[in-house]
This record gives sequence, structure tokens and C-alpha cells, in this order.
Amino acid sequence: MTNDDAAARLHTVSQEIARAATIAGRKPEDVTLIAVSKMHDADAIRPLIAAGHRHFGENRVQEAEGKWPALRAETPGIVLHLVGQLQSNKAEAAVALFDAIHSVDRASLVHALAKAMDKADRRPACFVQVNIGDEAQKGGCAVADLPALLAETRTAGLPIAGLMAVPPADLEPAPYFALLAKLARDAGLAELSMGMSGDYPTAVTLGATHVRVGTALFGDRA
Ligand SMILES: *Cc1c(COP(=O)(O)O)cnc(C)c1O
Repeated sequence: MTNDDAAARLHTVSQEIARAATIAGRKPEDVTLIAVSKMHDADAIRPLIAAGHRHFGENRVQEAEGKWPALRAETPGIVLHLVGQLQSNKAEAAVALFDAIHSVDRASLVHALAKAMDKADRRPACFVQVNIGDEAQKGGCAVADLPALLAETRTAGLPIAGLMAVPPADLEPAPYFALLAKLARDAGLAELSMGMSGDYPTAVTLGATHVRVGTALFGDRA
């Protein structure tokens, strides 16, 4: 990807976000675009950084550890989001590297993260991931278990900014985005991490504060 391609894609996606936000009576700047750079190397990422983008997402701790310390050393102000499932034994590494963790989905991880944050004295923003379509194979906490998991985060002292979800792949996503928004409202949580390349404008009209976009910015993953 050349610098021009990257800047053009970033411009297109940002315009779509702005358009959707305006339709919904929201401010475009209230939506954070997370460029999901998983499986793309530093050379593919640099053009987006050169175009001024700062929020990036990765789904594996180890892959992120291999790419981001060097990229961060080149450019200050990078904000790194973990958008993939997290094993409890990687909690310390995740807390050290990421500024936000979008995949808190079970009590054991809540406690591992709370402990890691106390130890490091560093507190990335956390999202509880909800298995919004109650799919057997998907990560995330079951909708029915959300109140108990949120209570667990309060007991553990883990600050939760909002909710995150990935709707079922082959269904119209809007009802699932609306449900996630309702669950967040009911829980008094302000942030909503929802929307990917195929559906981020819909997510923005339904209240997304963070969209996680990979393919529309970087092209297909190998
Ligand atoms: C890969 C991934 C994305 C980005 O997906 P695209 O369809 O490439 O935009 C968003 N969220 C999560 C959790 C992902 O794993």
C-alpha cells in the first residue's frame, strides 16, 4: 500500500463515519476509528501513521509485541487497542502494551487483569465483550450473564468503559447493534465498540463510539 492509497482509504472511511454520525444527529468526533492491523506488517501500517492516524487494533498479544514497540518509538501518540480474545496468562503482557482492551469476557480474566493493573499501576480502558448473537463458537460473555460479569468487574475494581460485540456473520447486524446499545444503556456504560468493515456506518448510526475497521483500510488479509 502506498502512502496515497492509505490516505485515500482513511479519508473514505472517515467520511462514511462522519456521514453516518450526522444522519444520527451525532458528532463525527465522538466516534473513534480503530484501524485493525492484524496480519499486516509495519510497512503496511506506516502509511496510515504518516497520514495522521493514531488508533490501531490488534487481536494477538504476541503479534502486537513484535510490531508495535518499534512503531511507537518512531511516532509518539499511538493508541493501541486489543480486539481479540485474551488468555489470562497474557494479562500482564496485554496491560503493559495496550491502551484499551475490548475483550473482557469472563470472571477469571477480570481478576487476572485487575491484578496485572495493580502490579503495573497502569489502567487500560476495558470493554466487556458480549456474545450478542449467543453463538456457540463465539467469544464473549452470554447476554444473560452480563449483569453478573459487570458486578464481578466492580468487585475486582476493574473499570469498564463500555461494551463490545461482533454480530453473527450472516445476519442483518442492526438489531444486534441496537441490543448492545440497550445493554450498555441499562448498565450505565457510555462506550460502544461495534462495527467492522462491512457494517461500520450502521453501527455508527446506532451509537458506536469505537468502530474496528481492518479490510476497508488495509485491503484483504493474507
Ligand atoms: C479482524 C477484526 C476486525 C476488523 O475486521 P474487518 O472486517 O477486516 O474490518 C474487527 N474486530 C475484531 C474483533 C476483529 O478480530
